[in-house]
Amino acid sequence: MTKNLLKTYRTKRKFSKTTEPKGTVDKKHDEPIFVIHEHKARSLHYDLRLEDEGVLKSWAIPKGPSTDPHEKHLAIMTENHPYEYADFEGIIEEGNYGAGNVIIWDRGTFRNLKDRPLKDCIKEGTVAVWLNGKKLHGGYALVRTHFSKNSWLFFKMKDAEAEVDHNILKEMPKSVISGKTVEEIGPKKKARR
Ligand code: MN
Repeated sequence: MTKNLLKTYRTKRKFSKTTEPKGTVDKKHDEPIFVIHEHKARSLHYDLRLEDEGVLKSWAIPKGPSTDPHEKHLAIMTENHPYEYADFEGIIEEGNYGAGNVIIWDRGTFRNLKDRPLKDCIKEGTVAVWLNGKKLHGGYALVRTHFSKNSWLFFKMKDAEAEVDHNILKEMPKSVISGKTVEEIGPKKKARR
């Protein structure tokens, strides 16, 4: 099952040339996990990934997450990523798909706020989850738009965790794993002392 769900991911990559995981673990937990990667490729974006069916269902969000419910940001659904991708940060070398720097900007568990399986919510185009991250907390929604096949909007739901007067991307730019920014994780980092 997982094998088939990762077909596009694997087709796009040469695992002899990238340190990204091939995806061999078929892991299940009581609580599903989410991760948001900050990915400095040709253009900077954030990748939201939600665990479902043993893989990470993924959306690329050019403007990233916001804690302000009025800010609805475009999210492009991309190929499923393997479960192990939740641990990946570092460099995707030149010549590979998505070449650039990647950090784990936030990670944690989530709860599906709908009474249907997440895969059905995705099929129907309305996802609502409660995130328990290190940075993001509370309800977040993904709603499919009619602009194009894979375009969705990602936004904070109105609840006690919403904050309108913050820019969380600027205030909290570092990896929740290494403490490095997406620039610092790169290979051309200047020596620091
Ligand atoms: Mn990406």
